[in-house]
Amino acid sequence: MSHSVLSLPNELLVAIAVAGQQDRIADLNSETQSTTFKSEWTWSHVSQRFRDVVVGAPELWALIETDFGSEGSVEILKLYLERSRACQISVTLHEPSGSHLLEEGLLDRRVTRDIVPQINRIRWLRIVLTTMNWEHEEMLPPFRDVAAPCLQHLEVVSTDHDAGTDALFLSGAPRLSSLKIDGITLRLPAPAWTATLTHFDYSSGAPDIDSLAAITAQCPLLVHLRLRINYVAPDTNRFHIPTLSFLHIFISDDGGADYLPRVVDLFHSPALTKFIVHGSHGDQIALLLSLKSLPHSSFPALTSLAFLMGSSQCSCDTANHDHPSHSISSPPGIFPALSHLTLINQCYTSDLIRDILGPASQPWPLKTITLGVKNISFDGVRGVIEDAVVVKRQHGGSLPTVQLGCEPAWSLANWKEDISWDVEISW
Ligand SMILES: [Zn+2]
Repeated sequence: MSHSVLSLPNELLVAIAVAGQQDRIADLNSETQSTTFKSEWTWSHVSQRFRDVVVGAPELWALIETDFGSEGSVEILKLYLERSRACQISVTLHEPSGSHLLEEGLLDRRVTRDIVPQINRIRWLRIVLTTMNWEHEEMLPPFRDVAAPCLQHLEVVSTDHDAGTDALFLSGAPRLSSLKIDGITLRLPAPAWTATLTHFDYSSGAPDIDSLAAITAQCPLLVHLRLRINYVAPDTNRFHIPTLSFLHIFISDDGGADYLPRVVDLFHSPALTKFIVHGSHGDQIALLLSLKSLPHSSFPALTSLAFLMGSSQCSCDTANHDHPSHSISSPPGIFPALSHLTLINQCYTSDLIRDILGPASQPWPLKTITLGVKNISFDGVRGVIEDAVVVKRQHGGSLPTVQLGCEPAWSLANWKEDISWDVEISW
């Protein structure tokens, strides 16, 4: 540690330590929660003066993560609760694996004793249920009847299997805007605090569409929704979410070509600007984009549409299935404002792009096409794009910018909006 660092004024030292926590704050909102580096400990070991400064800065102790099964967890939790003083806190609680071996009622008592009294200052709460204790009867009940006045984000994740959960915060959570539920079922009627949700991520597979539609109907402010849709019954209810601007759906991949249009037709969301579909196949996309209209839905404001598939999830290309039987010959009537189309690991990308850019197609208002393809498809797709360029040069006309990349940089796991591309072709 250089002399210049050691001579930093206290306020700057705290600011640097807080900056060192930004990755963890970002991780709170990501899937991974992978960061284990805790800058407050590192800094407090540098020198006695640093220790005094860090220990005396409550904002550095506001990110609390505890596994009730690990040794010393109770003491460390107490330390964070003390040192964070009156600061608002973010809390992640891990149910210990093998908690069914613990003394009955122990987890309930610990949560009730150590966490519930802090509820007035918990801003962000993540509960990870991991055990074969499938009723989860000890981690959640302590939160059932209490109010959470400053809670903004609630996340309940079960890594084990689907289970139901009893209602939480029956006395209210008036500032709750973001809810993530994975692996457990939100029972109807949904809690009253769903009325303030703007972000809802419901990754559990269990509920039917009628239940999902009933739950989202209780969220009149919803702008951001992630859902898993496993099956569409013929006479199912639809989603009426006029405020929705972002929708990410996961669909099962065993439906026929008309399955995707039937799923898309479930959403009455005319304000939608960004739509991501995970689990679609090329023949489904070809049919959807070739339709002039859907029976119920239209998306006049939609500018960004993405279709994603895990690289190992689909073998249509190599299994010699029939190529898509629908060709896309004009801008899709369902998405008249579409300016950015993304296809990641989609089967029949060559066919789709040949249709969209090809000479038979009327010009789309598309500005950008983003393509992440399997290595084996890269040359084929690139050839299709280059052929389209040649034709356009001969006949005039403009093409969108095409961003093309292949695995591994392009795998779905790495897919982000701002990824860098192997090839970018602009005209
Ligand atoms: Zn496929």
